[in-house]
Amino acid sequence: ANADYIPALAKVDSNLFGIVVITTDGKIYSAGDVTSEVSIQSISKVFTMARVMEDSGTEVITENMGVDATGQVFNSIVAIEQYQGQEMNPMVNPGAIATTSMVKGGNEKAIWKNIIDTYDDFAGRKLTVMEDIYTSEAATNQRNQALAMLMYAYGRIEKAPLEATDIYTRQCSVGVNAKDLATMAATLANGGKNPVTGKTVVSHEIIPEILAVMATAGLYDDSGQWLYKTGLPAKSGVGGGILAVSPGKFGIAAISPPLDAAGNSIRAQRAIADIANALGGNPYDPAPK
Ligand code: GLN
Repeated sequence: ANADYIPALAKVDSNLFGIVVITTDGKIYSAGDVTSEVSIQSISKVFTMARVMEDSGTEVITENMGVDATGQVFNSIVAIEQYQGQEMNPMVNPGAIATTSMVKGGNEKAIWKNIIDTYDDFAGRKLTVMEDIYTSEAATNQRNQALAMLMYAYGRIEKAPLEATDIYTRQCSVGVNAKDLATMAATLANGGKNPVTGKTVVSHEIIPEILAVMATAGLYDDSGQWLYKTGLPAKSGVGGGILAVSPGKFGIAAISPPLDAAGNSIRAQRAIADIANALGGNPYDPAPK
């Protein structure tokens, strides 16, 4: 079923289904509904992390929340308590809100501009916030506020935990279609250069670390099962989107709102796994010489 802990997500059309593949030389293949937008949700975590790694170095992530799988759901309080806000990663909510708190900018507006400009460059077009989703989540995100406060208590968020939660909620509410997500994935697959616009979005040095975090935790506590099936670094969101990266080859994305128990789109997982495997996308499947 659609996610319903954010009330506005329950109302999204469950039948929406679109798939796009974009190669690292910029060829676009699509099927289904590739223009309808859903909220990006947790997929945003990858691109905020990319911004922070680019501006402050990859070690700020390892030194703060870490890059380990939690084995817990994405908004687990237990996962924070276990290691006092460490030994987790930027793909689960506490690590993601801490990552958002590290984005540079003197005030909330400047921080937001840094985030949305980054997403725009990855997607190759101007993206906008779905205000109904933002309002709905902002009214019901007490759990994320609690996660942020705990991270603050453990010194993993240095200042303004509730402001960071609000900016995080806004980043999760950005509207994307399947082509936007595939372009974002293809930019990662192409070493940080958007293969559709030709713009270098982040330096290629940070791509291995970004993809490693996605491989470890992109589908939360089901990340191991996903990697076993596809070998692909990927990221899901409770809006129903998933993107996956075949390094050097292509980015692929699908949108379909109904989720499984871990919070990952069921159809998007199946479509991406089938197509990516058929295209020889698995980097752990070398041809013998
Ligand atoms: N905005 C959502 C939340 O914080 C994102 C979660 C997700 O996509 N898994 O709960």
